[in-house]
This record gives sequence, structure tokens and C-alpha cells, in this order.
Amino acid sequence: MVKKTDYSLFDDVCGFVDEAAEHLDLHPGLLDQIKECNSIYKFNFPLRNNDGSYEIFTGYRIQHSHHKLPVKGGIRFSEQVDEEEVKGLAALMTYKCALVNIPYGGAKGGIRLDPLKYDENQLERITRRYTAELIKKNFIGPAIDVPAPDYGTGAREMAWIVDTFEAFNPELINAKGCVTGKPLSQHGIDGRTEATGQGVFYGIREAVNVEEDMQALGLTKGLRGKKIIVQGLGNVGYYSAKYLSEAGARVIGVAEWNGGIWDETGINIEDLKSYQNENKSYKGYPHGKFIENSGEMLTYECDILIPAALENQITVENADQIKAKIIGEAANGPVTQEAEKILLEKGVVIIPDMYLNAGGVTVSYFEWLKNLSRVSFGKLEKRYDMEKYRKLLGTIENATGEEFTQEERDLLIKGASERDLVLSGLEETMVTAYHDMNNMRKEKKIQSLRTAGFILALKRIAISYLDLGIFP
Ligand code: GLU
Repeated sequence: MVKKTDYSLFDDVCGFVDEAAEHLDLHPGLLDQIKECNSIYKFNFPLRNNDGSYEIFTGYRIQHSHHKLPVKGGIRFSEQVDEEEVKGLAALMTYKCALVNIPYGGAKGGIRLDPLKYDENQLERITRRYTAELIKKNFIGPAIDVPAPDYGTGAREMAWIVDTFEAFNPELINAKGCVTGKPLSQHGIDGRTEATGQGVFYGIREAVNVEEDMQALGLTKGLRGKKIIVQGLGNVGYYSAKYLSEAGARVIGVAEWNGGIWDETGINIEDLKSYQNENKSYKGYPHGKFIENSGEMLTYECDILIPAALENQITVENADQIKAKIIGEAANGPVTQEAEKILLEKGVVIIPDMYLNAGGVTVSYFEWLKNLSRVSFGKLEKRYDMEKYRKLLGTIENATGEEFTQEERDLLIKGASERDLVLSGLEETMVTAYHDMNNMRKEKKIQSLRTAGFILALKRIAISYLDLGIFP
């Protein structure tokens, strides 16, 4: 993967915002207020290692925008975590939530560490201590700031966070809503694990189903047969690749930091993932060709390139070599602002991160709502609906004198489960936001979907201030 130099994700995000602001008539003070991070918390804390030695970690929680509360965004465990990165990721969360109409301000947190270097016991102590530091400064809580998984963290870490928070807040009835992405046993929600990848799938499906846009790229409408390269087969990359292949697209390349696999006949994603889980590398995988320099794979021939790992992957260094016609930004910030200019000139369509990976925070929102109401979705109405549909089918059968088959009966009578409702809410959110963004692009006669997305997001954020009379 491309190493960081003097690159700043936060500057890039501000640059994108400035481009969008040119299409709006916002007070410059309001624009500055929107762009800046409202609260930055950086702290250091020690861990006693198993051999008795001590190590000091640097943690962050940055709240970009308080225009809506609570603020929301993941927690990242990675060696690349620093203030600029967390600021940029926090800012992206603000625009992402505004674009998909989820009522949160943006935030992000992280600890600078390589999680692979620590055992489970150490990671638990680090996560619990990090949470305690957030509690001390009031940087976490269901009404204040609600973290979630991000690169290097998952449901396990979220379980430690909620457990620590509850221990400090035993009287708080809404305490479970202090974090999302929790395991189901800890009041998580069915479908959160795969939500971001599922959202990437819906987003790309919508994009390739707009016939005139595909014609302009010289591509056919629909996912069937589309050749895809995915960078990163972590949670987001894996589920994106899985759902896209199931819908008929062909994943021909998967690039990981330690090598990639290339197979023009199509990669079996489940099989590759289980090989990766067992062997930690694709070396020796019996199907396809092992590519040592996986960075190069971003420039291979394909229809859709999906960077699903980290920011700063497509830069001025490699942008002019990209052959994909569509880039689906499943990761946050994978294409730099300068690289985007080169790609747009080449006619590449970039489906921006702030839209494409919004499935995670969307389902997080459903989880938070579930925690606040303390009831699973569908629990109250499922049986009632089934009974109602059963009676309706009976009435139709009596009126027509014909019987439904058992299969039809099962399908029509089935009441919605929590998972059904989560998927339907997610699909609705992703479909609506894509067309809002694409229509804005056409209305403003601009090429960049990202600029269109930022225009929509800025408008929605600005209204929160304007309606309070804070800026003219
Ligand atoms: N870390 C994810 C993101 O970047 C999810 C955030 C959340 O669910 O709050 O969007």
C-alpha cells in the first residue's frame, strides 16, 4: 500500500468541500465553522506488558461537527493513526451522515498501534482503558458520542467498550446505545457486520443500472459480467466482493497488502477468504496467479475498481495508469484530491466514499434506535402481520376458488424479521441517496459525483445553523 508522506486526509476533505461550496452561496464564516473540527481529544495512556515492561499508547477521539448530536463514527486501531487522519475521517463522517440523511454529527477515534502485535488479553485492556479515558472527558455516551468499528476493530472491541461504559454508568437506562457494531448478545443488530459491504453492493448496483451513465462509459447496464478488482479483503472488501459476485459480477483480482490473486475466469470469494484466514497470505492459493506487487493491481484492466482498505491509495503517482472505468470507494479517502482531477479528465466515474460506505453508519443508526427503544425491530408486529396476511390469503382463496401453493403461502405470510427490516431500510437509504446525488450532478452540470454529494451534504448541514439564525 502507498505510504503516507506529507499527505493530509483532512486537507483533502476540506478541498473537496471548497469545490462544492463554489456551487452554493454560503457565508464564508459558516463554511469555516462547518469545515473545522469542533473538539479534539488526544491522550496518552500506559499498558503493562506481559513481561512487566510498559508501553505508552496515543489515543484520539475527534468530534468534527456538533450541528447534530450525538456525533458518530468508528474507532480505528492502526499504526497509521495520527491527528490529521482522525480529523479527516471525522469530517468525512459529518458529510456522510448528512448525505444519507442520518441525524448525527461526525466523529472518529483511534489508537496508534498494530493490533496484530498484541494478544486478546492486551487488546482488551487497551480498549477498556481507552474507553475509560473517553468517559473521563465525556467523549462517549448515547446522547453525546457513539463509536463503532472501523479498520482494525470489530464487534469484540465494541463489546468491551459497552461493558466498560455500563460499569461506569449503572443507572443509565440507555447505556447500550453508547456504541454500535456490538455482538448480538450485547444488543447489537442483525446485519451490522455485513452492512458496509451490503451498502457498497447496493450503491454500485444503482450506479450501473443508470443506462445513460453506462452508455457514456461504453459499458452495458447492470452488474452481470462486470469485471471487478477489489483492494483489501477485510470486512468491507469481503462482503462487497461476495454480494457483487452473487449478483453476477466477476471479481478477477483481489489485492492485499502482502500480495494479490489474479484470475480472469472469476475468483471464488468464500474460498479465497477461508484460504486467507488459514494461511494469512494468498501465496500458494491453488487458483489464479499470485501477484507479489499487489499495489500494481490497482492499474490492471477492469470495469470497476473497489479500494476497500485505507486512504491515500490512488494518488498522482498512479492515477494516470488506472484503467478502470468506475472506482467504487469502499474505503474512506482512497483517492486523493489531485488524483481525482486526473481520473475525471480520463472520464472515470468515482462513486465517493461518503456515499458508498455509508451502509455501516446507516445500520449503526438502526442499532442505536433499537437500543434506545430496547426492543428488536419486528418484535411487536411480526405475528400480527402474519395473521393478517393469512386471513387475506384465505379471503382471496374463497373468492377465487383457487389455492395458493405452500411455497407461495410461506412467502406471502412471512412477517418481517429484524434482518429483513434492516436490509430494507439500508437499501432504501442507499438507493435514495444515490439518485439524489446523481440528479444533483446532472442539475449542476458537473462531472464529479463527489462534488454533487458534498453540495447536498453542505446544504443540509448549513440549514441546521441557518434555522438557528447563527449565520445570515
Ligand atoms: N467506521 C464506519 C464508517 O467509517 C462506521 C461508523 C459508524 O457506524 O458509526 O463509516
